[in-house]
Amino acid sequence: MKRIEHNIKWLLSTVLLIGSFNAFAQTVQVLGGDKPHLECVTEEDYQEYMRPAIEKNISRLRSEGKLQADIAPKMGGEVKLAWPLRMTPEYQAIEGVNSYFYIGNFADIDHDPYYRLDWQCNTALGADYTFGGAKNYDQHNGADIVPYPFPWQMMDDESVDIIAAADGQVIHMYDGNTIDRNCDTPHVFNDEPFNGGYYGNFVALLHDDMSITIYAHMKIGTMADLAIDDYVVAGQYLGKMGSSGNSGAPHIHFEFRPTEYGQYDEPWFDPEGCNDDLTESRWIDQIPYFEPEVLRVSTHDALPVFKTCAEYESGSNETVNFSNHFTTAEVLMIGVAMRDFFFGDDLDVDIISSAGIILEDMDWVSASNYYREIFLFTTSLSGYATGTYKIRVTHQGKSYYHYFTVNCPAATTLTGTHTGVKGYLNGDYIASTATISGVTTNDVLYEAENYVKLNVGFQATANCAFKAQVDPCTIGALKNIQTIVENNQMSVYPNPNFGNFELYYFTDEPSDKYFLIRNLVGEIIYSSSKLNDINLFTEQIDLSNQAKGIYLIEFYNGKFVETAKVVVQ
Ligand SMILES: [Zn+2]
Repeated sequence: MKRIEHNIKWLLSTVLLIGSFNAFAQTVQVLGGDKPHLECVTEEDYQEYMRPAIEKNISRLRSEGKLQADIAPKMGGEVKLAWPLRMTPEYQAIEGVNSYFYIGNFADIDHDPYYRLDWQCNTALGADYTFGGAKNYDQHNGADIVPYPFPWQMMDDESVDIIAAADGQVIHMYDGNTIDRNCDTPHVFNDEPFNGGYYGNFVALLHDDMSITIYAHMKIGTMADLAIDDYVVAGQYLGKMGSSGNSGAPHIHFEFRPTEYGQYDEPWFDPEGCNDDLTESRWIDQIPYFEPEVLRVSTHDALPVFKTCAEYESGSNETVNFSNHFTTAEVLMIGVAMRDFFFGDDLDVDIISSAGIILEDMDWVSASNYYREIFLFTTSLSGYATGTYKIRVTHQGKSYYHYFTVNCPAATTLTGTHTGVKGYLNGDYIASTATISGVTTNDVLYEAENYVKLNVGFQATANCAFKAQVDPCTIGALKNIQTIVENNQMSVYPNPNFGNFELYYFTDEPSDKYFLIRNLVGEIIYSSSKLNDINLFTEQIDLSNQAKGIYLIEFYNGKFVETAKVVVQ
């Protein structure tokens, strides 16, 4: 059935491509780097390095009366697991980012040496990291989850947090393995006598039902300040993805053991699958075996470059060549990073002008199966007018967006109503009195080189999406430096100053708000008018007639008061 659907899609896309009148020269390249050697931890390693220490720590805590699984009130039943990773807000806020990982391996659930079986009953041998085999290797005792695209850059940027999958007590950990960029085999450890062993830097948690989760291969120096015996809650930060221990690329080895001294298992379950040890999934929200998705849409001014293991190990990352700003003389490269993209699946990549006209329509149908890859669409920008352009990538009926500029448009004053998915990027500032009504299909981005100013009258109502950020528009300069405007954020610039400064505030709170400035004896020396329906504002403040010293800014809304200090010199 699936095969037939794919064939029909293939035919449709072929017809569309032939029928397209926007026949610009285009090429599609399949990138993604070498398939990493992800064989990391097996049950032998657990038995040798991990189990003795875990047993020792559990029995010590138990004898001291400190084992939470003994003393914590049991809620009854089995502990359910939340996904052990999350994007940082900084990574998530990068325009064009949608998701961040693929699953390189599941556990080998038959437990027998020499045979492989994953929870979806795939058994084939010799098919590592190519489509069609078991998505595991012999005796692998966990799931390997890999950041993507550009895993080494993402590791370096610390774009992904490893978090506790459930409440639990730290029963073993190691954070001393300074070699955390292993790529080639044989892998190097410098933690003799093998404190972390093949796990590298890791945390192991014992949950209230005596199940165990292990989070391995962390980046050095990123581990939370934890000690054996500490109790963490679900979602609590544990560390960052790295490639310490027996690891061929940045990833997390996530191991699940249903009982204290029992064998490893797989939290994934499908009634028609092969994990007969379970009767239901141990995940709160199980991620499917295949979950096709666009991870990121990005623009590049040159081909991204993948490196050799020797280069990764000596500290270099992929050369990503991200750029959002182009001249008409440049070639635009659009990267579409995908997870689980199959034979016959299609991508539709459109470039759309600010007036809503489709300038290019690039369709592409896959002739192969991929667990993860970057598909690079290349086109000339010759003849493009100065302006902001939208890239729309459509896959399985869902659209993903990214923006770029040609020649950095000048300062812009925006008025009227914004509807749909729109981006405004420019090289100086954006001032706006526009309205974005509270409709979920309204998704608007402002990005300016110097500042974004929302004047009285600007309104972004609950349910719409609105994002503002400051980012250099310089063509050919250092790429991808972004200052993200966080929710509820106040800043003062410059600080210290000589009495004149700009106060900047962004909040999601819809209630009335205002701010006061007090001197150190508490006298109010400045108060703003009520700022109704304004989420982001900047105000020039003049305290040059006040004495030099420290002043306190207090920002009030219906829910809280936030303060900041300003120093007048
Ligand atoms: Zn693993």
